[in-house]
Amino acid sequence: MTFENTREFALELDSHDPLAKYQQEFIFPEIKGKKAIYFTGNSLGLQPKRTKEYVDEVMTDWAKLAVEGHFVADKPWWDYHERFANPLSSVVGALPSEVTVMNTLTVNLHLMMVSFYRPTPKKYKIICESKAFPSDQYMLQSQVCFHGYKPEDAIVEIQRREGEHNIRLEDVLAKIDEVGDELALVLLGGVNYYTGQVFDIKTITEAGHKVGAYVGWDLAHAAGNIKLELHDWNVDFAAWCSYKYMNSGPGNVSGCFIHEMHHEDTDLHRFAGWWGHNKERRFMMEPQFDPCKGANGWQISNLPVLSMAPYLASVMMFDEVGMDALIAKRDQITAYLDYVLKEIDLEVSSTFEIITPAENERACQLSVFLHGEGRPLFDYLLEHGIVTDWREPNVIRLAPVPLYTSYLDIYEFGQILKDGINNK
Ligand SMILES: *Cc1c(COP(=O)(O)O)cnc(C)c1O
Repeated sequence: MTFENTREFALELDSHDPLAKYQQEFIFPEIKGKKAIYFTGNSLGLQPKRTKEYVDEVMTDWAKLAVEGHFVADKPWWDYHERFANPLSSVVGALPSEVTVMNTLTVNLHLMMVSFYRPTPKKYKIICESKAFPSDQYMLQSQVCFHGYKPEDAIVEIQRREGEHNIRLEDVLAKIDEVGDELALVLLGGVNYYTGQVFDIKTITEAGHKVGAYVGWDLAHAAGNIKLELHDWNVDFAAWCSYKYMNSGPGNVSGCFIHEMHHEDTDLHRFAGWWGHNKERRFMMEPQFDPCKGANGWQISNLPVLSMAPYLASVMMFDEVGMDALIAKRDQITAYLDYVLKEIDLEVSSTFEIITPAENERACQLSVFLHGEGRPLFDYLLEHGIVTDWREPNVIRLAPVPLYTSYLDIYEFGQILKDGINNK
């Protein structure tokens, strides 16, 4: 499609947008009394209006039923997580038995490491990306030390080539081959949080398996953003937070995937708790742990139902919309943002360098180096109603989240950006 950087063209795109109606489903922050343009759904998604109903339902059940709510609430609390199985498995391309919701993301990655990182002196290395999200780095370092290995020896980082912003697939595959038999685990982010680069999960997973390693994915920036086929790609495990693209609220619960091929593997260690125990016998208070079948067997504690309620509200919305429709809009609106940035670039003295890769390796995020600009531009944008994310030295990350961003938002952002640079 040939785009135009005009208000009329943006409005025209909005009028044909099948997801436009979802903008009404969200609550936008206001800046100086005006609805903000929100580009930071990759950090914290907006609150859907329907979320409050889900939370209120739990509050009301608790008030009316107290302890009985575990079993007789409309959505009983004791197996509340099972309501996620169908809709969430379609978001991540899994079998319903392969997904569960529990804990928070970094905690789940630690728990997955208990099962899938079992180093021996011959096979103890982990491959990850350089400049991975800090929590992942700390998590990996502490796991390696816990097992008595040295991070500088056991953790192998895939580097970017000199002068390049993104990691090349061929370099990932070469590193996997190079570490070979010593490789115990590959753990990467499905979408890099800084650049928005999307990794080829299928190919990398296959390559890891070929050398006998487990392959797990941190899908913090991928869940609800990219097409995932975790089951078909034979991913061993994955975890994601629910508060970025999945709009479940600050710091909220994490989703977790464990491939069916591991469900019956009694050699896998796991840290157990009563909510992972055989559902039918959970309240018999038996001394011997007998795990539930499937990913639910990795549950530990009684469920944080008040946290799960907002995630359930959101997952139901994703189920309603469907990932294919979401991705179709994502591609078009990200392309429009890309186009508008390049048009504005021609009209101002500064240079924008989009460090996110091109179409086939990106999703809903453009990270832009603003050469010749600094923090004052970010402040200007915020004062004028645009919420972006600033990373030192002068990168802004822009996520035109398809569920609640309009094409008009993109056009207006472009105009404000231009004014912010010209009025310096
Ligand atoms: C956001 C994010 C996290 C956050 O982890 P929490 O445990 O939820 O704080 C971890 N890893 C990546 C890659 C992220 O983008």
